[in-house]
Amino acid sequence: MKEKKPRAGASPRQEHAGSETAAPPTHFIREIINEHNKAGKFGGKVATRFPPEPNGYLHIGHAKSICLNFGLAQEYGGTCNLRFDDTNPTKEEQEYIDSIENDVRWLGFDWEDRLYFASDYFEQMYLWAEKLITKGKAYVCDCSPDEVREWRGTLTKPGQPCVHRERGREASLDLFRRMRAGEFPDGARTLRAEIDMTSGNINMRDPVIYRILHAPHPHAGDAWCIYPMYDYAHPLEDAIENITHSICTLEFEDHRPFYDWVIDELELPEPHPQQIEFARLNLTHTLMSKRKLLELVKAGLVIGWDDPRMPTISGLRRRGYTPEAIRDFSERIGVAKRDSMVDIALLEHCLREDLNRRARRVMAVLRPLKVVLENYRDGQVEEFDVPNNPEDPAAGTRKVPFSKVLYVERDDFRESPPPKFYRLYPGNEVRLRSAYFITCKEVVKDADSNVVELRCTYDRSTRGGSAPDGRRPKATLHWVSANHALEAEARLYDHLLTVPDPDAAGEGKDWKWFLNPGSLETLRGCRVEATLAGARPGDRFQFERLGYFCVDPDSAAGKPVFNRTVTLRDSWAKIEQKQKG
Ligand code: ATP
Ligand code: MG
Repeated sequence: MKEKKPRAGASPRQEHAGSETAAPPTHFIREIINEHNKAGKFGGKVATRFPPEPNGYLHIGHAKSICLNFGLAQEYGGTCNLRFDDTNPTKEEQEYIDSIENDVRWLGFDWEDRLYFASDYFEQMYLWAEKLITKGKAYVCDCSPDEVREWRGTLTKPGQPCVHRERGREASLDLFRRMRAGEFPDGARTLRAEIDMTSGNINMRDPVIYRILHAPHPHAGDAWCIYPMYDYAHPLEDAIENITHSICTLEFEDHRPFYDWVIDELELPEPHPQQIEFARLNLTHTLMSKRKLLELVKAGLVIGWDDPRMPTISGLRRRGYTPEAIRDFSERIGVAKRDSMVDIALLEHCLREDLNRRARRVMAVLRPLKVVLENYRDGQVEEFDVPNNPEDPAAGTRKVPFSKVLYVERDDFRESPPPKFYRLYPGNEVRLRSAYFITCKEVVKDADSNVVELRCTYDRSTRGGSAPDGRRPKATLHWVSANHALEAEARLYDHLLTVPDPDAAGEGKDWKWFLNPGSLETLRGCRVEATLAGARPGDRFQFERLGYFCVDPDSAAGKPVFNRTVTLRDSWAKIEQKQKG
């Protein structure tokens, strides 16, 4: 079942949002750890790890796992390792390793000197595999992948042993050593655990633990032509690093018996790490799979892994997300035991809350319409003090120049206003933020009847934005001075997917069918306050009345490019209010 609301466990924190002292809501993993600590199972120690496979960039789902693993370690005074689970060399690359380290650090976590690679344990894993063979707990099998599948049976039909199971320890050991020596081609043989071909759990029907793969490894070089399978390698990595709580996603629940089997059969020192499964994060309108994200990158449907539309950590960063907002989101959604779908509006809400506190306000006009103040003196320039952040008085004010020719937002003008339109239209008076009241007197059009300019007058008694007679226009508009403003590009983003959940909406249609063709709108010729001339890539601002924007690395000197991080409209706040009301 899909549920769109965050879990109930999230609500206590929401009420205390912003308060440092609020205790984090408890969840079942904290409870398990508390139990272990009470029973003294790990001597009160908490040692977790974040174990990405370096086969792509990290996404917001991984961020959740990072916050959980590093967060629990912090909370319990323990440690969290960063470990590359690099057992599949054909898909792994150094670029991914670098990006992962960068992303974890950016999120605000530190593995100190505990950076590990599963591939550094290959020799030990190999020796342990020999030990299993010697114990009669593993054998070399000559079946092809198809044959392995056939003999394995199904959920309703037990599997059957193949003849190789009976070849004897000596023969298996000899063949395994020759596999390592490179005598056989890819796929010719495998090493399999010898457990139970009739087990109710298919993962226990003699799973493959080593395969032949003549491929160089990004970290281990050409030292190996056999590689351990994930299910064999992972418990060993955890045991080697003395991990106490091995937290993974739900799909590994059925693999836990094999996880325990490996560690038990190898008689590794107690206490053995405890695997704990939680529900992976799914977000509406969001692809949450490295494989699919890689397809987008390869097909050129996005500009790269860090395209601001991507749910990758690097994409979110470029878009203008803050690590604080992502960490807050992770805490609020809690940890669930059942798969669910979280509304992306909650993530955006966390972001707005954070940016609202710290983003400097500026005025920017995305679709400029020229305004000429007929009664303002040619060449005159005034400067107005405009607050940098009404949420934060310490942020102070800045001087914004004002002159005869201005730009306002095209959307703030209608020649024939619809009901309740209080902004500019012929004859109407509005306030220009922190400046003057102006009244629209005349509309200038080009030969094609497009509005190209408004002729207005200003009321000099309203300097600073208030009238001595107390009258108050119903609309306050943002503006920039034409001669002072900087030209800029703005990139407006929408969800990558047109539907909340392509799997649910799919009716058999591929997820690519739901890609949003309008996910990027590029606006050139925008005009922004001159104070933005010194803005650097990564700087974040609130463009008044428009949304939060972040400077993109594509910016050139004097030609800034802004990504719209998120609009000001907060649909989650409304949902929350309804829930409370
Ligand atoms: P993907 O399915 O996107 O390829 P993955 O699980 O294969 O992801 P890994 O590199 O193996 O990627 O994941 C590293 C860690 O991140 C694992 O512990 C995994 O359980 C966790 N993780 C991955 N996706 C999510 C998610 N959506 N929510 C929470 N944790 C996740
Ligand atoms: Mg994986």
